Amino acid sequence: MSETEFDIIRRYFTRQPVNRNEVLTGIGDDAAVLQLPADRELLVCIDTLVAGVHFPEDTPAAAIGHKALAVNLSDLAAMGAEAAWATLALTLPEADPDWLEAFASGFFALAGRHGVQLIGGDTTRGPLTVTVQAHGFTPPEQALLRTGAQPGDRIYVTGTLGDAALALHMRDDASAQLRARLEYPEPRLGAGCLLRGLASAAIDISDGLLADLGHLLEGNGLGASLRIDQLPRSDSFVAALQGLDSTSSGLYYDLPLSGGDDYELCFTVPEHNCAEVEQRLGELPCGCTVIGSIEAQPGIRCILQNGDNYQPALTGYMHFREGEHG
Ligand code: ADP
Ligand code: MG
Repeated sequence: MSETEFDIIRRYFTRQPVNRNEVLTGIGDDAAVLQLPADRELLVCIDTLVAGVHFPEDTPAAAIGHKALAVNLSDLAAMGAEAAWATLALTLPEADPDWLEAFASGFFALAGRHGVQLIGGDTTRGPLTVTVQAHGFTPPEQALLRTGAQPGDRIYVTGTLGDAALALHMRDDASAQLRARLEYPEPRLGAGCLLRGLASAAIDISDGLLADLGHLLEGNGLGASLRIDQLPRSDSFVAALQGLDSTSSGLYYDLPLSGGDDYELCFTVPEHNCAEVEQRLGELPCGCTVIGSIEAQPGIRCILQNGDNYQPALTGYMHFREGEHG
């Protein structure tokens, strides 16, 4: 590398938009020293993005910086946490100043908006791989878990589904709005915090609604019915599908059900809390939509407007399944 790893760290990663007072020692020493706020539980998550697996090789560097942090903040959002700190392990094939500048700008723009301080990391040479670990807080025993749904609870999602998968499907023909949904997903931290004490269970949708809702049901041996005409679809999604040929018509259902990379929240709410949830989340730009309900009978039933069952063509992405690389 033309620049040493120390030059890179100093030049691109030490200018911080955020300085939190619980960070006693941040980047520069052998480890960060952090003061946990009183009366808060610490939540920790980590996610790796590998070039060519988690994002196309030609993804803009700013989008990679954004998304590496966003997917972690989305996990914190699904727990109802407030985000606080992050660490960044960056493996680079070369030290390209333009790439690093854009990567850091994407990362820090998102970090700044959510008050997240970068507190350390690791910089190595190799195939492009970005790992971010994020840390957040909730009040004691308030974290939203995947377990906790009960038969009769309503199932909701934030925002709209299928946009990112449609952008991936359409490649260069995707509109700017669809592409932004793939490259710059917006973690739903505000929604997650508002759901504390009201939702019975929550998960973020990274691998597709059916796969992730499946995780939420599995542990409890529950099932669900989904009203798949009611899945929230963006105007850009509907307009783009109208422009595609008729062999793509199954995408109207299959992308919102099974397309990955939405980073919306899927959560369940007991009937008596639904009005308050709808009122609170209705005040956020992403809003929320009821899409079905939890049932005692295992399995997910996709039901059309006319009452017929729909058999989805695709299920979620799995790294180690035959025929899919990981
Ligand atoms: P060590 O060799 O002791 O592990 P490093 O040389 O890897 O330390 O890192 C020096 C300092 O820079 C540490 O505080 C580390 O957390 C930080 N750091 C390294 N890489 C990054 C990065 N990509 N982003 C943020 N901080 C980093
Ligand atoms: Mg050291």
